[in-house]
Amino acid sequence: MRKPFLAGNWKMNMDAASAVALAKGVVAEVGQVDGVDVAVCPPFVYLQSVAAALSSSNVALGAQDVFHQPNGAFTGEISCTMLKDVSCSYAIIGHSERRHIIGETDALINKKIHAAIAGGLLPIFCVGELLEERQGGKTDQVVADQVKKGLEGVCEERILAVTIAYEPVWAIGTGVNATPQQAQEVHAMIRGLIAKMYNKTIADAIRIQYGGSAKPANTAELMSQPDVDGLLIGGASLKAADFGAMIKASMK
Ligand code: PEP
Repeated sequence: MRKPFLAGNWKMNMDAASAVALAKGVVAEVGQVDGVDVAVCPPFVYLQSVAAALSSSNVALGAQDVFHQPNGAFTGEISCTMLKDVSCSYAIIGHSERRHIIGETDALINKKIHAAIAGGLLPIFCVGELLEERQGGKTDQVVADQVKKGLEGVCEERILAVTIAYEPVWAIGTGVNATPQQAQEVHAMIRGLIAKMYNKTIADAIRIQYGGSAKPANTAELMSQPDVDGLLIGGASLKAADFGAMIKASMK
């Protein structure tokens, strides 16, 4: 039985005061929840103050990215050690906004996944197809290719540190979510692929989140799908009441 895992991706939103207020709001809603794993991923600059607001709660802290080198002349980048130092447990890696706006490649994403696991962070590894890829019938091919390339060289002993997030790009921030059936089809495909790449025990254990315009109104139906183990939530995670409602609706 996979424990549901919901994570809020705050993206490039908030200021110092509102980040702490939101974190406190999440703690007030679901701070002691134990049937669901919960994380929030604020911008780097607010990690420390959000960590303080989350202390003594069950809400974990995640970063929105991580660099694969441990230290040195990498202007603007943040290492695993730095993230661990400010109490991060998770790091989102390969988000579609980083793939398509910043230009991150599968090869770079793979390096980041290796570095995160080696450095004790739990990657939330994002994959997903563009609208034209879905319309061209290429969803499975694109997503499978991203999964294989992103996880290349990640061994059996380490793979369960990873949560995979299936995020169709056309659903992110658009208000148009994948239908529960569309999400389930891709999640089942990913789980089958993990069984081939590793084994059935690992495939049965790995968690696969859905992301893309998830909100309180569609949470229960998305989460009712057998291979949907959680949600990566952008917009709706910026309101503590909505995020809290989604967590409560996800207790399977
Ligand atoms: C995301 O940023 O990962 C995301 C899914 O955003 P939204 O929920 O706003 O679509």
